[in-house]
Amino acid sequence: MHHDRHGKVLFVGAGPGDPGLLTVRALDCLRLADVVVYDTLVPADVLDMAAPAAARLAVPRDGREGDGDPGEATGRLLARLAAEGRTVVRLKGGDPAVFGRLSEEMGPVWEAGIPVEIIPGVTAAAAAAAAAGIPLTSRAAASSLTILTGHEAADKPEGIDFRQLASLPGTLAIYMGVEQVERWSSELLSAGKPADTPVTIVSHCSWSDQRIAVSTLARCAADFERHNWPSPAVVIVGEVAQPVVGASVAMDRGRDRGPLAGRRVLNTRPPGPRDDLDSLVRAAGGRSLRVPVIRIQPPESWQPLDDAIRQADTFDWIVFASANGVRSFVDRLRGAGLDGRSLGTARLIAIGPATREALEHAGFTCDLTPTLFRSEGITAALARSPTPSRFLLVRANRGRDLMRRELEARGHVVREVTAYSSEPVESLDMATVAAIDQMPVDWITITSSLIAESAIRLFGPQIRRWRVASLSPITSATLRQHGIEPTVEAAAAVAESLVAAMADWEIAHAPPPA
Ligand code: SAH
Repeated sequence: MHHDRHGKVLFVGAGPGDPGLLTVRALDCLRLADVVVYDTLVPADVLDMAAPAAARLAVPRDGREGDGDPGEATGRLLARLAAEGRTVVRLKGGDPAVFGRLSEEMGPVWEAGIPVEIIPGVTAAAAAAAAAGIPLTSRAAASSLTILTGHEAADKPEGIDFRQLASLPGTLAIYMGVEQVERWSSELLSAGKPADTPVTIVSHCSWSDQRIAVSTLARCAADFERHNWPSPAVVIVGEVAQPVVGASVAMDRGRDRGPLAGRRVLNTRPPGPRDDLDSLVRAAGGRSLRVPVIRIQPPESWQPLDDAIRQADTFDWIVFASANGVRSFVDRLRGAGLDGRSLGTARLIAIGPATREALEHAGFTCDLTPTLFRSEGITAALARSPTPSRFLLVRANRGRDLMRRELEARGHVVREVTAYSSEPVESLDMATVAAIDQMPVDWITITSSLIAESAIRLFGPQIRRWRVASLSPITSATLRQHGIEPTVEAAAAVAESLVAAMADWEIAHAPPPA
């Protein structure tokens, strides 16, 4: 792991949950992080954006008992981590400066003389207004916006002057307000706010099970109780909270639509550099639960890869079998103080589109991507290259050596190096097991033979109750060897096809309209 000699703490706004609402700078910080300290409000999808090697540390929202102020306790933890020379990302839901205990956490870090940077994020009120299709201010009806906590009303009734709030010509955005709805709504009413003031609630904003509902100040307490919208939720009170576009804003304009609506998909793949399976599932209306059944680790030794990199210009072709391989290769290349020039005239091949994208993201041009995303595609694509050509295969510790054999059979010279190793996860932690037991799983995605074997070992007979989506014929064959028939198989070995196959199955098996 690489440590700056001087650590620093980056307070990063994670936005409301959808990784698409991260800022570009936030993403950069996540990729740079040695440690990510996050609170429980940050969804796994955002956390997945961090470098796989980064340590992840959850801090409970209310801190540990007996530690004094929980914000300061977290601040001391941040200072300690950074003092050892690490780049520490303090990942906060929404914007770090809105109900984020920013000053408490920053205090100990400043005191330790450690540099701090704050990266703003999309705060819940802004995300909720966007989701509901309403403005937060408007020339006609709201010339101010007040962000307040609905929670404070309980412990400190004097804390918030509802009389003043009720007389403001503007919008109220109430955070942490669901539990105390009874209290703040009646306070506002008795302070003179009209009973028919519109109230919009957005629960799980930008998550796949987002819910939006519209009520009024007089009715909202009863509505909240009846519908029990889950936390976190943000409430917008004021004239703006009435959708003006009429019918075009539906009450439940969640993203629970699409062919995978209401379906939960267990994604068994470890988070990768440019892995979009989760977001594709969400885009199809489904929910994704990531439970990696394999782990990506450094190879047993870096020596073979480092040697090959130093001699990179002696190869005619360098073949990358996966995005993880690209990442290791590029990291080691840069770590040795080299760049693309040291590859000389070697041409680069990516075995599939995700690998190609990883190469391009790292600033390299991919000379060839075979149409068939497997080893066979490569050998076919190279059938006409002059013999003997010199090949470098950058691959995982395991995998098929078909490509090597075929290339050698054609008279080429092949060198294989292990750029990373993938290992089965030995066991699942208790929280994951409980999560899987509690929520119904509809699909499990199986994206390699190693994943198939590991998933079967970890989930046992449960798998037979789930629908199985297999990425390729080779993966399906491994599943069948264990007596499991995949429900669907992707037409091409890419995430898009895998999700399309699940969606097609759901459409074909949907109950006929009543
Ligand atoms: N720093 C955060 C707020 C933290 S306080 C921000 O800027 O958004 C926690 C409260 O934020 C929750 O009780 C809820 O009111 C709101 N919130 C955070 N994420 C939310 C989401 N995805 N959907 C709805 N409300 C959310």
